[in-house]
Amino acid sequence: MHPGLTLFIDADDTLWENNVYFDSVISRTAMRLAEYGVSSDRTRDALLAIERQRTRAHGYGSLNFGASLEVLCEHVGIGASLDEIRPFLRAEIASLRRKRLELLPGVADTLAYLRRRHRVVLFTKGNHDEQWDKVVRSGLRDLFHQVDVVREKDQGAYLDAARRLGASPARSWMIGNSPKSDILPARAAGFGAVFVPHPGTWALELAELPETQDPGILRVERFAELAAIF
Ligand SMILES: [Mg+2]
Repeated sequence: MHPGLTLFIDADDTLWENNVYFDSVISRTAMRLAEYGVSSDRTRDALLAIERQRTRAHGYGSLNFGASLEVLCEHVGIGASLDEIRPFLRAEIASLRRKRLELLPGVADTLAYLRRRHRVVLFTKGNHDEQWDKVVRSGLRDLFHQVDVVREKDQGAYLDAARRLGASPARSWMIGNSPKSDILPARAAGFGAVFVPHPGTWALELAELPETQDPGILRVERFAELAAIF
């Protein structure tokens, strides 16, 4: 495509691994709860229901995830044993926040290429300080013209970001791994969208993409393929 577009790029599970770490905390929590007779399926189903509700009220990020795990322990009925399990949960969340960021293949080189041709904006949702901390630790900060952290990535957030950054939706693209947060709302706001699927995407980020051949929704299997598009 011609240069001069604004490319909004998702962070978690698009630029670096993220959900796989949350998922391993859930697995270890399920193992702990199994000691109290709670099945792994019950743990996972209950947590998903709790997170679906709590993220709406409290947003995303590891601290809210930790609070959801405590709600989970109460919900599945381990009662007074929550005091026994709480130090384990707190240690898990603390280590999640210290995790070394593992960039996905081809990310840095591809961003460097895209940055020379387009305005490149890192567009992520979650806790402001936590997301910024990850951007800094990733070493990718200088490859973005701008970094924008929002509470939720819905259609209104895309329109608002375009307005704040002086970008026309028709000349903007969103790139990311989440059908629910990156592809559908960006497209609804008039952006183009490139879906970069990640096999470990969080269940709450999944959504059906339209089956019609919409030229405004593209799909690549690897981040590096973006250089051939843009
Ligand atoms: Mg993502």
